Amino acid sequence: MQKECNQNNCLWVKDNNNGNHYMCLKCGRERWLNKRRWKLSVLLILLKSGLFIVLKTVLSALFLD
Ligand SMILES: [Zn+2]
Repeated sequence: MQKECNQNNCLWVKDNNNGNHYMCLKCGRERWLNKRRWKLSVLLILLKSGLFIVLKTVLSALFLD
């Protein structure tokens, strides 16, 4: 097995299949850049649940009339 190199010497290469995934060519260490995606997914979930609540209120208001 290859020795893990100093972080400053790592040769990070972007994964062609995943833009958030990086791998070091020398030691094979992996790195994920998914912080922004995580925030985005949380925002999406909040948006979806918000939309659902709005839709539910609108629908119930329409059918109660
Ligand atoms: Zn490395």
